[in-house]
Amino acid sequence: MSVQPLVLWPDPRLSQVCAPLEEPDRWLIADLFATMYAAKGRGLAAPQIGVAARAFVVDVTWKEGAKTPRVFVNPVVQSTSDEAAVMEEQCLSIPDLPMPVTRPRSVVLAWIDGAGVARSATFEGIEARCILHELDHLDGRVILDHQAPDSRRELEAAYAR
Ligand code: ZN
Repeated sequence: MSVQPLVLWPDPRLSQVCAPLEEPDRWLIADLFATMYAAKGRGLAAPQIGVAARAFVVDVTWKEGAKTPRVFVNPVVQSTSDEAAVMEEQCLSIPDLPMPVTRPRSVVLAWIDGAGVARSATFEGIEARCILHELDHLDGRVILDHQAPDSRRELEAAYAR
C-alpha cells in the first residue's frame, strides 16, 4: 500500500472511459485509500492515480473523526432522484479550484465491494454527491464538465494562473 502521485487535470488520462475490473484489485484499492487519505480527500477514483479501471473509494466521515471506508468496483447507477441540489465541490485532480456542481440528491447504486460481493444501496446527501463525483471520473468527466461555457472559461483561466 503506497501513496501514488495524483494525475492532474488536464492530463488526458482524466478524460477516458475506464474499463470494468474482473475482480477487486486489492493493491489498487489499498493505493487509492492511501493516496486519498494522504491528499486529505473524501473520495478518489482509479484514473486519478493513472489506472483506467472502474473503481473508486469514498470516506465521507474520516475528517470528522471516524473512518467509514467504502470500496466501489464496477458501479452502475440504477436510478437517481429527480430532486437536485447545488453544492461547491473540489477535486484532488484540480487543486484549489472549488466550483458549484448540480447533482441529484440521491442515487441507487449497484456495485461490487472490496471482498468481491455484489451489493446495492441508496445513498443520499454528501455520500451521494461524493459517489456521483467519483463515478464521473470513471467516464472521463470532471467537475469542469458540469460548468456553463462562460464560467468554465473563467475557471480554466484561474487554474492556469
Ligand atoms: Zn475528482
